[in-house]
Amino acid sequence: IPPVVAVVGRPNVGKSTLVNRILGRREAVVQDVPGVTRDRVSYDALWNGRQFVVVDTGGWASDATGMAAQIAGQAEIAIELADAVVFVVDATVGVMDEDEAVVRVLRRSQKPVVLAANKVDDPRTEAEAAKMWNLGLGEPYAVSALHGRGSGDLLDAILESL
Ligand code: GDP
Ligand code: MG
Repeated sequence: IPPVVAVVGRPNVGKSTLVNRILGRREAVVQDVPGVTRDRVSYDALWNGRQFVVVDTGGWASDATGMAAQIAGQAEIAIELADAVVFVVDATVGVMDEDEAVVRVLRRSQKPVVLAANKVDDPRTEAEAAKMWNLGLGEPYAVSALHGRGSGDLLDAILESL
């Protein structure tokens, strides 16, 4: 049975774009506008000859009420079902309340976590990614899911965490 890797984080940080990057094809639906309810979708992935299942997560109510709690709740289910978790943050925006809510769930889960600081499209944003050390989740992997920058190192880290 291949191991399961869940990709979690608040809406719009680039989870689905990252899943597509991991798959090497466009299957996960990328949304420019957050608010479309989708739950967990699993895909078969392969890296360095190793098979694993990557789970894209979404699925949040469209009203802003209790959004952090809803996102954390969704993440909680995905984390529970996973062997390892990729936690995606948007390095261009920084850490928000909704991110902190997911961090608390991650800590409680004691699952291996790989931190992806996304939207680092160019070296100028590297410093923002480095600030994510403060989350206390280990090394932030600076990536651009859109352009592929850093995705190889991230994938290596994901497989090492399994
Ligand atoms: P999700 O809600 O977390 O699944 O985020 P999506 O993958 O749907 O992406 C949300 C938006 O961020 C889309 O407009 C993406 O094109 C954009 N995006 C995702 N990754 C990157 C990236 O690495 N760099 C930039 N500049 N934009 C990105
Ligand atoms: Mg998505």
